[in-house]
Amino acid sequence: MSNREFNAYISQKISVSPEIIILRIVPDGWDLPEFDPGQYAVLGLPGSAPRVELSDADESPVDPDKFILRAYSVASASRQKEYLELYVTLVRSGALTPRLFALNPGDKIHLAPKIKGVFTINELPSDLNLVLMGTGTGLAPYMSMIRSCIRPGEKRKFAVVHGARHSWDLGYRSELMTIRNITDNLAYIPIISRPKLEMVPWAGEVGYVQQVWDRNLISDQWGFQPTPENTHVFLCGNPGMIESAVTLLASHGFKEHSKRSPGEVHLEKYW
Ligand SMILES: Cc1cc2nc3c(=O)[nH]c(=O)nc-3n(C[C@H](O)[C@H](O)[C@H](O)COP(=O)(O)OP(=O)(O)OC[C@H]3O[C@@H](n4cnc5c(N)ncnc54)[C@H](O)[C@@H]3O)c2cc1C
Repeated sequence: MSNREFNAYISQKISVSPEIIILRIVPDGWDLPEFDPGQYAVLGLPGSAPRVELSDADESPVDPDKFILRAYSVASASRQKEYLELYVTLVRSGALTPRLFALNPGDKIHLAPKIKGVFTINELPSDLNLVLMGTGTGLAPYMSMIRSCIRPGEKRKFAVVHGARHSWDLGYRSELMTIRNITDNLAYIPIISRPKLEMVPWAGEVGYVQQVWDRNLISDQWGFQPTPENTHVFLCGNPGMIESAVTLLASHGFKEHSKRSPGEVHLEKYW
């Protein structure tokens, strides 16, 4: 299959807020590829595709025939074969997201035939606990991990720590609260950074995702302290958050993972 062609449809578009959407995509006449939770898909639209009204104009001229390609972490479960779900934030000055936001169900899009990436939990021992920390749409790969891996009888603990500016930007909140309520495995800690702008006073955590560590919020819910021996930590989204979390985790003995030098902290920077 060619790398750049309309080969899939938008089947559903769910608005989380004016600047955050959940897109479901269905291949046109081919099967969704196998993938591991945590991996990313590549979407594309040509420069001729219209931009959503809420966005700014293109920063530089775009070739109308050339496909603009970007990576998006898959949010759906790996066993979900009907559609691929993605969680996308609008970058008003961006090249692709204003065009993605202008799409509606039935519109065509390019979906690269392979889903890739190493930000996965499949090769980790199944008794290790997992702390999944993300900002904004950095929650997407964790939705795939949670939806794919939490099962009745599951022994390991998961903690999802989701940071956003406002409570209305906390996508998937009701799904995560439901999973937390029906299993003993999930700690879910939403945290907002701009509480003064809330319409209704926010009773939850305030600050930045990395602060949950020193506030013992995970150990309060798990009943034990996450340590490098019993837990791996995943960090996804804003590179600024990732850098400060890596430094903070290092002071607790957690080491950044690489293929050459295994550690307990796994990173996916979105830009
Ligand atoms: C492996 C990987 C997975 C990704 N998964 C997702 C995902 O699931 N959801 C998602 O929305 N984006 C995701 N991204 C980012 C995505 O690929 C694009 O960079 C983003 O959508 C902006 O594209 P654009 O063409 O509109 O902006 P561009 O014209 O490419 O402008 C890029 C600028 O936009 C800003 N930016 C990029 N991503 C974000 C973001 N998520 N939130 C806020 N500001 C951002 C940064 O300032 C960046 O410098 C991922 C990136 C990588 C590398």
